[in-house]
Amino acid sequence: MILNIVQREDPVLRQIAAEVPIEEITSERIKDIILSMKETMHAAPGVGLAAPQVGISLQIVVIEDREEYMSAMQPEIRKERGRKPVPFHVIINPKLTILENIEVTYFEGCLSVNGTIRITPRAKSVMVECYDENGEKKVIHAEGWYARILQHEIDHLNGKLYIDISDKRTEIQNNAENRNKWLNATSADINQYLQDIVNVKELNR
Ligand code: ZN
Repeated sequence: MILNIVQREDPVLRQIAAEVPIEEITSERIKDIILSMKETMHAAPGVGLAAPQVGISLQIVVIEDREEYMSAMQPEIRKERGRKPVPFHVIINPKLTILENIEVTYFEGCLSVNGTIRITPRAKSVMVECYDENGEKKVIHAEGWYARILQHEIDHLNGKLYIDISDKRTEIQNNAENRNKWLNATSADINQYLQDIVNVKELNR
């Protein structure tokens, strides 16, 4: 079942999501939630979805980054961003550790913040300890775009949105023109744009 994705004003997005009791991970209720989240993510479409985004304050995330989402990107840009297909998987009760606290800045959006995107800093690589949908413990090491997705989705479980950590001055409309314009931007292009915005702001003081 495709669920309604709540938007930024909804208080559920600001709650700390509850852990799923280990013995309930394989229950019908949790299985149903995961299936609906998967269908909702595909329909959106998006590369990740956290349960609070469909109004369920539980520590469940689904992620899938498909080749078709990145096929229009130049190979060298994909390489720079560390963007590779990630198969569908489920993350339950995650603990995230930053491995390389090197800031990487790209445009980022969210299915719960309709209409706009912003330049958002994220750590380059992370480790996530969690459970999968079978109740098995897992450890994930990720870098590049996958590390960004993990940070974004796990923030949702802690009541945080990307707009909390990004500069509002970098906000642009999430439309086809802007997406195409920035699709193949290098990190250097984006940092230059960020610098220009800061300079304009200072000139206008
Ligand atoms: Zn989001």
